[in-house]
Amino acid sequence: MSAEEAKREILKCAKCGKCRSVCPVFIEVGDETRVARGRISLAEAIFQGEIFYSKELRDYIYSCKKCLRCQACCPSGVDFNLIINALLEGIEKNMGIPPMARFVLRVLLPRRRLFDLTIKMASLFQKLIPGKRRGTMRHLPLFFMGKRWVPPLARRTTLNRFQHTQKLSNPEMRVGFFVGCLTNYVYPNIAEALVKVLNHLNIEVVIPSEQVCCGIPALSLGDTTAARKLAEKNRAIFEASASGGLDAIVSACSTCSLTIKREYLRLLGDSWKPMADKVYDISVFLEKFTHYETDPISTKVTYHDPCHLRWGQGVTKEPREVLGRCAEFKEMEYPDRCCGGGGVFSIIYRDLSLKIGEHKINSIERVGADMVATSCPGCMLQISDMVASRNLPVETLHVVELLSRTINHRPKG
Ligand code: SF4
Ligand code: SF4
Repeated sequence: MSAEEAKREILKCAKCGKCRSVCPVFIEVGDETRVARGRISLAEAIFQGEIFYSKELRDYIYSCKKCLRCQACCPSGVDFNLIINALLEGIEKNMGIPPMARFVLRVLLPRRRLFDLTIKMASLFQKLIPGKRRGTMRHLPLFFMGKRWVPPLARRTTLNRFQHTQKLSNPEMRVGFFVGCLTNYVYPNIAEALVKVLNHLNIEVVIPSEQVCCGIPALSLGDTTAARKLAEKNRAIFEASASGGLDAIVSACSTCSLTIKREYLRLLGDSWKPMADKVYDISVFLEKFTHYETDPISTKVTYHDPCHLRWGQGVTKEPREVLGRCAEFKEMEYPDRCCGGGGVFSIIYRDLSLKIGEHKINSIERVGADMVATSCPGCMLQISDMVASRNLPVETLHVVELLSRTINHRPKG
């Protein structure tokens, strides 16, 4: 990341304050140092040597959700993502990051088998945890995030379940599947649904078993070196798969698709562009390239827009189109309001994360749907936690899961 690029973006900011009206963090805390405009002023002061890196500054920067909502509404077109990434890198270079986080990012995440083993050990502890509610349990053993209801770790990871590509005799298309950590370790049911739907549509799904984390946890802590290493590994793996011909790379995680589509261009350079252009969120892929029929169910489903899909990729209509074919679609109030989730953010700022999420769970409760669907496993984690906390009779699921339950499997003709 070049500081010069960030400085150019800083100069574009007109200090109009429009970002204050949409920033989920600012709306809760009302503190100018925790909104794009204030953080841009801090970046300006840092680059001009007027202030120095400190614990307070780190807190102002870490408390940004990187939801990109401010960027999507900015009348001056400021690339805030570039500025916040430059600040995070500065923090990492000048203050470092906790040794445990460094170990996870640089040692565990690039080594799939070692990471699998760590998660496996963590999953053994979950058997000891009492109390289950709506498919969730009280703690995530790895992080001991008390007060949270989270789904148990999968007994068998997605990448272990799909070690071999299900070969189709004469497929219409061949796509790579970027799985992502949550779908791999917590939600293999999303992967099963995605593969089932695509195979039904005569699309072969290649799931390279050596793929690793997309790198977003490393980027969130400013460790660009670790993020680039993960990106390079994924590039080598997917380019090797692409040598057999890949028409697209699909993902069921908004954050993963945003990272491999956009952040990898920054990490790997323009040589990644041909692959980046092939990356699609699963609902976008389905609506753009396929035709399918469904047997809709008489169940009310509502939809939550993940920030990284709506603000990061501008996708709004495709997931709704899929859901509208599967069940009775009912829009909630403020579907684009942040759910408060987000990997590193919801661990460091747990209470703030839940406070932001209050608005979302209120909307879900008011709409009176039986199901809340979304396009991001990270949002599912947050929403199912809040649903379980309130003990609501609402199922949280991924868009592609509902499609796999309702897609018409009758033979054609
Ligand atoms: S909306 Fe854009 S131009 Fe206005 S203060 Fe925020 S970042 Fe600056
Ligand atoms: S990225 Fe999101 S949390 Fe960060 S300043 Fe912008 S709107 Fe606020």
